[in-house]
Amino acid sequence: MAYTSLYRKYRPDTFDKVIGQDHIVRTLKNQIETNSIGHAYIFTGTRGTGKTSVAKIFARAVNCLHPENGSPCGKCENCVELAKSGNFDILEIDAASNNSVDQIRELTEKINFPPTIGRYKVYIIDEVHMLSKAAFNALLKTLEEPPEHAIFILATTEIHQILPTILSRCLRFDFKLVPNSVIAERIRFIFDDIGCKYEPEAVELIASSGNGSVRDALSVADMCVSYCENNVTYGGVLEVLGASDPQKLTSLCTAIADGDIDKTLQEVANLCDLGKSVNILAIDIATTFRNVLYIKNCSQAKRLLALPEGIYASLKGMADKYSTEKCLSIMKIMSGLEGELRYSSQHRIIFEAAVTLACLGGDSDTKSEELALKVARLEKVVATMKKSGFEPAPAAPDARQVWKQVASGLEKSNMKFLAFAALEAEVEMTETEFIVKIASPATLGLFLDKNNRDVINKIFQPLSNGRKLVFKDFVHLDEDKALPYVKEMFGQWVEIK
Ligand SMILES: [Zn+2]
Repeated sequence: MAYTSLYRKYRPDTFDKVIGQDHIVRTLKNQIETNSIGHAYIFTGTRGTGKTSVAKIFARAVNCLHPENGSPCGKCENCVELAKSGNFDILEIDAASNNSVDQIRELTEKINFPPTIGRYKVYIIDEVHMLSKAAFNALLKTLEEPPEHAIFILATTEIHQILPTILSRCLRFDFKLVPNSVIAERIRFIFDDIGCKYEPEAVELIASSGNGSVRDALSVADMCVSYCENNVTYGGVLEVLGASDPQKLTSLCTAIADGDIDKTLQEVANLCDLGKSVNILAIDIATTFRNVLYIKNCSQAKRLLALPEGIYASLKGMADKYSTEKCLSIMKIMSGLEGELRYSSQHRIIFEAAVTLACLGGDSDTKSEELALKVARLEKVVATMKKSGFEPAPAAPDARQVWKQVASGLEKSNMKFLAFAALEAEVEMTETEFIVKIASPATLGLFLDKNNRDVINKIFQPLSNGRKLVFKDFVHLDEDKALPYVKEMFGQWVEIK
């Protein structure tokens, strides 16, 4: 017999089996029961949160002869026919692979034929944001005047890529990330149902590995069942996830927090030689310190973390020994690494530099000494420069911070390249202006493009404090004045072009 994944096998077939989306389920059930069904729906949310499952249940429910509590009964003639694959009344289209205008036209032409089984023809279009522009327009035409018997359910993970003209014609439902506790409950139910033994902590770990996606968590559960041969243990799950051995990890984290660079690098070498990827190791270290912070600062930590006794005890030991500031600083360094690793091929080197930095950062005495030294040096430089008539640019950490918020706003609007370009720019503030200095003409052009500028202005407006946003060509520093400053800061080896 072919193997069916847990996700497929336990896919909900009634609304009551859908987990974590109560707000949506209630509304849809209500629509079925009061017979107030729309013609176009858009389901949005992260992958694996149940969009397609809910769409399928809804498609059968609108056609069911005797819906039970808003869900399809599964027994009537229509339910039986519609459960067969290849029926012509419920059509599922994956826009990622059928995104051409011809394919959408073919679909919308057939829409005028009445359903063969029940009352409605339901079109479920997955990943609808992948449709080409022409295909979108063809779809829009149909959405404007759908036949009485047609229902469209559009599903997408990228709602901001959907044209407003489409959105305005659809009832929108936002699928939420499913809480770990709800996913864990589902996994326990499934494991009990298939007769698989498990450690409670193992289930919690599987649930949290899904990051809110039921599908992702269940596919990890699937692998764990096969890997652990029907007795899912915490250690087994760690191995499936490729996570680090907790003992070795604790030992590495302790070395970092102790500021013991020698031991830290040895532990890193040991773990890397076992084939551990530094990306995962970075996440594991960040997670460890996050857990330690929880234990230090949250009275419910034990229940919330749901870790095995042994691991909890060793983390509790760390929590008693190290300060919140120290843990926080290490956590920040390690979690900030993700971005850096993405843009480099020298993963191991960057990682080793980061753990070394974390070791140093962990030692607050060294840090403040270093800081004092830097400040003294800076003050000296500024004094020298003032004497020579150079007005230092006003220190502008605030401008930088405002600008970072703008960049993150751009990223959220899915203008990732613009966000990236924004971070490359220099910024400063005067009383009345917020000046963005851009080195490359191409990038400047990008910022001055009307559409882009409108978006930037909209994000900047609430942060502006009454200042006007000004884009400028990069003004080169006056070399005679700047050179000594730069040389003093960075040493004589610096080459300036
Ligand atoms: Zn039925």
